[in-house]
Amino acid sequence: ERTTVLITGCSSGIGLGLAARLAADTTRRFKVYATMRDLAKGERLLERLGGCCPDTLEVLQLDVTDPRSLAAAAQRVQGQRLDVLVCNAGVGLMGPLETCSDQAMKTLFDVNLFGTVRTIQAFLPAMKSRRAGRIIVSSSIGGLQGLPFNAVYCASKFAVEGLCESLAIVLRPFNIHLTLVECGPVHTSFLANLQRPDPEGSEMRGLDAATQGLYRRYLWHCQSIFRDAAQEVEEVLPVFLEAIGSPCPPLRCASTQLLAPLWPLRLSSPDGSAYVRAMHDFVFGGSEAGGDQP
Ligand code: NAD
Repeated sequence: ERTTVLITGCSSGIGLGLAARLAADTTRRFKVYATMRDLAKGERLLERLGGCCPDTLEVLQLDVTDPRSLAAAAQRVQGQRLDVLVCNAGVGLMGPLETCSDQAMKTLFDVNLFGTVRTIQAFLPAMKSRRAGRIIVSSSIGGLQGLPFNAVYCASKFAVEGLCESLAIVLRPFNIHLTLVECGPVHTSFLANLQRPDPEGSEMRGLDAATQGLYRRYLWHCQSIFRDAAQEVEEVLPVFLEAIGSPCPPLRCASTQLLAPLWPLRLSSPDGSAYVRAMHDFVFGGSEAGGDQP
């Protein structure tokens, strides 16, 4: 019998890649419900699969911020037991905290945190009653450690981490495995889709010069990290496949070792100061460490 997998955010990036990979599996082991907010963007997925929709794939509309759309998708899948739910839809928000508008912050949390909560809520009861299922969540290194000029994004992914870690404890007796995939930089539409102010733009008006300088340096750093160290979608898919296939997947798996050297600092220096210093030096260079004069 086929493993059924529902994935959110399949119009681009990791969701698109995972849906295409599973639907094209040569042993036809999977039935994929590839969901996306805007069905018009489904073309890209069909193109990947040679232009026509194989019977291993069904494309469904799903906006994780819209409870009615979630209810309709859950209704559509009802009856076919759902083995794996992949909560992947997510958006970014970058920039000095002073420039993050109320609306942008609310939208971000509505997708990244509440969207994930709603999606899990929609499919959890059926998994619980079957005493079986898997939930995989696209999280981020930014869900484990703070990143400069990503404060609100990191806050949303830290929230997702707390949500999932808490839920995993209750799901144990239900034989439902929950796995967070901790992604580092990946070449997707994420950077193009994320909201960020232009360092020369009007949003910067009134912002102190030191912060503006740090932000420019951060954008430069970010560009070089994406150029030198970002992974291709194909490189992160094995982590998702492992979480789908392994008999007992862990709560967290990392798809990159990029920031792994900084992670132990949080344990060896629980007061946080060593991490803050090391991350500052990593992004802005060590020369002014402590001086804070950009
Ligand atoms: P992406 O922008 O290509 O994909 C995100 C998808 O989510 C898009 O298809 C978008 O349409 C969809 N989406 C946005 N709002 C939605 C909504 N309301 N309802 C349904 N779908 C919605 O970027 P990606 O890199 O493939 O991102 C996938 C996940 O990986 C996200 O959760 C992101 O936070 C996480 N992640 C990405 C990176 C990276 O560098 N690319 C790093 C860490 C974590």
